[in-house]
Amino acid sequence: MPKEEKPKIKLAVYWGAACGGCCVSVLDVHEALFTVVEHADIVFWPIALDFKYKDVEEMPDGFIDVTLFNGAVRNSENESMAKLLRKKTKVLVAYGSCAHMGGIPGLANFSNKEAIFNRAYIESESTSNPEKIFPQTHFEVPEGTLELPVIYNDVKALNQVVNVDYFLPGCPPQTERLVEVFMAIVTGAQLPPPGSVVGAYDKSQCDECKRKKSDNKLIKEFKRPWQIKDDGETCFLEQGVICMGPATRGGCGVRCIEGNAPCRGCYGPPPDITDPGAKMMSAIATMIDSNDPDEIEKIIKTIEDPAGTFYRYSLPSSMLRRKFL
Ligand code: SF4
Ligand code: SF4
Repeated sequence: MPKEEKPKIKLAVYWGAACGGCCVSVLDVHEALFTVVEHADIVFWPIALDFKYKDVEEMPDGFIDVTLFNGAVRNSENESMAKLLRKKTKVLVAYGSCAHMGGIPGLANFSNKEAIFNRAYIESESTSNPEKIFPQTHFEVPEGTLELPVIYNDVKALNQVVNVDYFLPGCPPQTERLVEVFMAIVTGAQLPPPGSVVGAYDKSQCDECKRKKSDNKLIKEFKRPWQIKDDGETCFLEQGVICMGPATRGGCGVRCIEGNAPCRGCYGPPPDITDPGAKMMSAIATMIDSNDPDEIEKIIKTIEDPAGTFYRYSLPSSMLRRKFL
């Protein structure tokens, strides 16, 4: 009697406000893609295959086994697709830093929609728009009405819009971690409780990092990576370069640091840290080599774009959420 084949899982991949890197990272699994397609039928993946939104709308609720949703929620299209895919999916995964924490698009929360539109459509050096025309959400043409999504004032992480089952961090996630998590799902392995971060460790980058650390290094000036002659061995922070390692989960294989670049925090904070920016500010405060308030201020001013550095990937899901203008 022929062996009964295990039914394949139905897999969807979708992007919200994203750069495309997360979708590329799914393709980056190389030969493991054969393993993926052996276990899964791809039922929706706009960047790679010609499915339409109406195909998803026609699926019964819970029809898709796993959706990897990458990208933040920035506009009405992102939001309605997040809600639709939540309805149609058993296991919804926030895939990558943008879906996990708001990511790079979330830096827009340091500004607002009006200022961003003014900059993009009026003030930018390459723009000529004397009539001050902004993108319209509806525009009539002889063939009918053209529709564009409504851009929101706030960028949100996926779980600020719908319930998320798992968070797979990284910008983009390491493909090895994706394959591990995917195989755990298809083989029915014991998964952590819904709402957990998967494909990453609970310890910080510093726990994995091989660079040398001392206990009492004090800093008189912070520098950008190109301003130091990196010896390739000493902790970046101790060389005065901001490294988000103390406030960031391990799991990526410390790849940036192995490539002699400081950690930027894309894996998000470990479970014992609520706010990565606050953690970094307190870590850095202990390293400043002065008790004189004026000098302390001078040293702090040597940190280039502190808010953008400490919250590069996490502003929408941080305690701050946004800058109020
Ligand atoms: S997490 Fe990084 S790679 Fe993925 S969509 Fe966002 S910016 Fe791009
Ligand atoms: S701060 Fe950065 S360079 Fe220093 S130990 Fe931590 S991860 Fe390594």
